[in-house]
Amino acid sequence: MGGLLDYTTEQPLAPGTLLSVPLGRRQTPGIVWAQAPTGAPPGVELRPVIAALTSLPPLDAAWRALIDFAAGYYQRGVGELALAVLPPELRRLDDKQLGRRIARLQHESDTPATAPSAPPPRPEPSAEQAAALAALEALRTTPGGPLPVLLHGVTGSGKTEVYLRAADAALQRGGQALVLVPEINLTPQLEARFAERFPGRVLVSLHSGLTPAQRLRHWLLAHLGQADLVLGTRLAVFASMPRLQLIVVDEEHDPSFKQQEGARYSARDLAVWRARQLGVPVLLGSATPSLESWQRVQEGRYQRLALAERIGAGQMPQVRVFDMGRLPKVEGVERVLAPPLLDAIQQRIARGEQSLLLLNRRGYAPVLFCGACGWKSACPHCSAWRVFHKADRTLRCHHCGFSERVPRACPDCGNLDIAALGRGTEKLQEQLSTLLPGARIGRIDADSTRAAGALQQQLQAVHDGDVDVLVGTQMVAKGHDFRRVTLVAAVNPDSALFSSDFRAPERQFALLMQAAGRAGRDAAQAAASEMWVQTWHPTHPLYAALRSHDYAAFAQAQLAERQSAGLPPFSSLALLRAEARTVEAAAGFLAEAAELAGQQGSVTVYGAVPPHVSRVAGVERLQMLLESPSRSTLQRMLAAWIPQLQNVRARHKGVLRWAVDVDPLAI
Ligand SMILES: [Zn+2]
Ligand SMILES: [Zn+2]
Repeated sequence: MGGLLDYTTEQPLAPGTLLSVPLGRRQTPGIVWAQAPTGAPPGVELRPVIAALTSLPPLDAAWRALIDFAAGYYQRGVGELALAVLPPELRRLDDKQLGRRIARLQHESDTPATAPSAPPPRPEPSAEQAAALAALEALRTTPGGPLPVLLHGVTGSGKTEVYLRAADAALQRGGQALVLVPEINLTPQLEARFAERFPGRVLVSLHSGLTPAQRLRHWLLAHLGQADLVLGTRLAVFASMPRLQLIVVDEEHDPSFKQQEGARYSARDLAVWRARQLGVPVLLGSATPSLESWQRVQEGRYQRLALAERIGAGQMPQVRVFDMGRLPKVEGVERVLAPPLLDAIQQRIARGEQSLLLLNRRGYAPVLFCGACGWKSACPHCSAWRVFHKADRTLRCHHCGFSERVPRACPDCGNLDIAALGRGTEKLQEQLSTLLPGARIGRIDADSTRAAGALQQQLQAVHDGDVDVLVGTQMVAKGHDFRRVTLVAAVNPDSALFSSDFRAPERQFALLMQAAGRAGRDAAQAAASEMWVQTWHPTHPLYAALRSHDYAAFAQAQLAERQSAGLPPFSSLALLRAEARTVEAAAGFLAEAAELAGQQGSVTVYGAVPPHVSRVAGVERLQMLLESPSRSTLQRMLAAWIPQLQNVRARHKGVLRWAVDVDPLAI
């Protein structure tokens, strides 16, 4: 399935109208995509449409063009993608019910509940912000449409103020503005800033945390043109906005903009396409741009605007790379923190300042181990270790969720003395309580924030100064404006240096730069703020670039490596993933698919390999990489190849699922 289907209708229906149509014995939602002028070919009897949702204004041509492009590029069916990105509630309502909702929304907008208060005084833009805004305005009127803008601003340089003013200009022109952020957690604070700046304007959010009714309401407000501002996560890139005049993608380098299930689209890349198609500005903001965007600046396809200084002339924290190899080895003593780092944290506590310790591994210990027989806490369903969580005494698999009580003794030999290997955030928190008696140690990770509202509560405690030292995973590195943090430390960041994923260094550099940006947000303390890196590889170029806060040098070195290896952005990739009951079934499917692909020519097909974790919940996974120096060559090859894979799969019964990921982020 994936093509368009023909139906008959008595009344003429405009393209973009939502429908209910028969499909086999089922009734299914649909959208009028085009009007066929002629009737059915001879001998074919078309079935009539069951119902049309005519109370909803049709989805416009620009929206349908976006869906057409995205479906083609990411190799999905047009109908599948269109229905997947519309609010699910639309399918539940009939025309009458929908008509009533729309009438209610229109009535609300005619009678504003409160008179708009006067907008608050806006901060005077810095010279850099003013220059960026002037350049943006000049670009807007470029004949043929503005170039996409990469707003390269160090953390604390006031990118949000540029977004706010650019949005204001779009609204003044009678347009709507769309602002995309990588994570739901970041929407409340941004929403608050936009709401404060634009009193009397209608602002809605679109993300997966909304109830179905809220999502429908917000989507309708955007679609009807009543919402001036739409803030959301990646799915909001598909919001129907008839007056769209500006798209902002904040933290454009963030991997969360790539959808990892179903249609694996990149919201950032679609935002750029959508803006270009409409001829409106798109603003990609980041302190550490993706290498794809950076390369496009080098090629003159994007315009870079820089914010190099922190607002209030605060300095970036001083980066201290500490060589862990210098510490004397003492038998039986585990070095958690280097003594000078521990000193620095103690000084912060004495001054009433906060420290943030980054460790990207949750749980207590990544694996339990029996020294007597060599048993390890493997997951019976996955090719992964189960993680020891001390708080609830469980062994938990982070891939399939399988959880058991921690055994008292080794399950294989009965040895009572089983050891926890390695360290996660829980253990670091416990060790810090011993190393820093009396200090208040907080922890924020996926485990500590599982309960509703827990994250906001824990962040508030940090803001209120109720925490001296905060331990956290990458969750705490993103976006939060901690005013009292003057020290950030990466406890064990080396693993990314030797990952098999070519994007690991890029992600790690972005994470460390972002973490560094958490220190010294308050300009008065910025000069005394520090970022510590504990490493066994102190001379690694990644740390050298971090030390000098030199994104450009890092990007240049990485791009040179990518170019010589023929990797993105100098080539295009697609990944065919297969999941099967057995490795043999997955391998058989991929081998036959590779054979077919080989006949398409001009695209390199690599051998099938297991991903980082090859078995999850009893299902074997294999993947196969396709690479071409030309994006359009790869696109043509995929379009010819993928339709044949249905038949290939039918010959390999053990295959449970397969999917193609265009421009994959994790390899
Ligand atoms: Zn044992
Ligand atoms: Zn598992």
